[in-house]
Amino acid sequence: MRVILLGAPGAGKGSIAKLLTQVDGSVQISTGDILRGAAQAGTDLGKKAEAYMKAGDLVPDELIMGIMETRLQEPDCTKGFLLDGFPRTIPQAEALKVLLNKLGIKLDVVANIEVPREEILNRLTTRRTCVNPQCQAIYNVRTQPSKVEGVCDKCGSPIVQRDDETAEAISHRLDTYSQKTAPLIDFYRQEGILLTVSSPSNEAIVNTLMEQIKG
Ligand code: AMP
Repeated sequence: MRVILLGAPGAGKGSIAKLLTQVDGSVQISTGDILRGAAQAGTDLGKKAEAYMKAGDLVPDELIMGIMETRLQEPDCTKGFLLDGFPRTIPQAEALKVLLNKLGIKLDVVANIEVPREEILNRLTTRRTCVNPQCQAIYNVRTQPSKVEGVCDKCGSPIVQRDDETAEAISHRLDTYSQKTAPLIDFYRQEGILLTVSSPSNEAIVNTLMEQIKG
């Protein structure tokens, strides 16, 4: 399947993408994970992106499109892909449209995941992430704690609160979402492929999406 997951930080894009990968082997592509991996590895890309990410600002479109042009042409994408955190601006959505046309790829659906701001703030301040760039597993101190506090169940690396998940950075990221990313809802509505989903259960959202895709 070929899906864009649209939604504010903390809406559950990553968790829903992970569930969808189990359906047919489509790959999850998270630009946030790619950028955090690059920042930890100290690559050129990582150095350029780091300050924007720490501040909760968006990384410039050219850098993101450079990553995605390469990533979408890698062999594992032939089975399908779940775009998690991309596109995030109208110029990215327009560039993606051109790129997909060039590659002869059609999107199945753009899922607009709606979650109340209050719930998002709650989720993000309690979220913890594994520091291992190859793992980046997500936990929640309230709803999904690791077995041993501060240690990743999957790889044993430390799990921490991300630099951009302080109350101040979160509030800024949510404002950035409203200003720069929310306009994509109308963009994809006009393309005729938008499906708005809102449910406290990620499993229910996955089922709704699958029905639409099989449709
Ligand atoms: P995420 O893990 O998706 O919340 O992304 C973390 C941070 O990475 C964001 O706050 C941005 O600074 C940056 N980022 C991730 N994806 C994008 C994108 N498509 N465009 C611009 N910046 C991005």
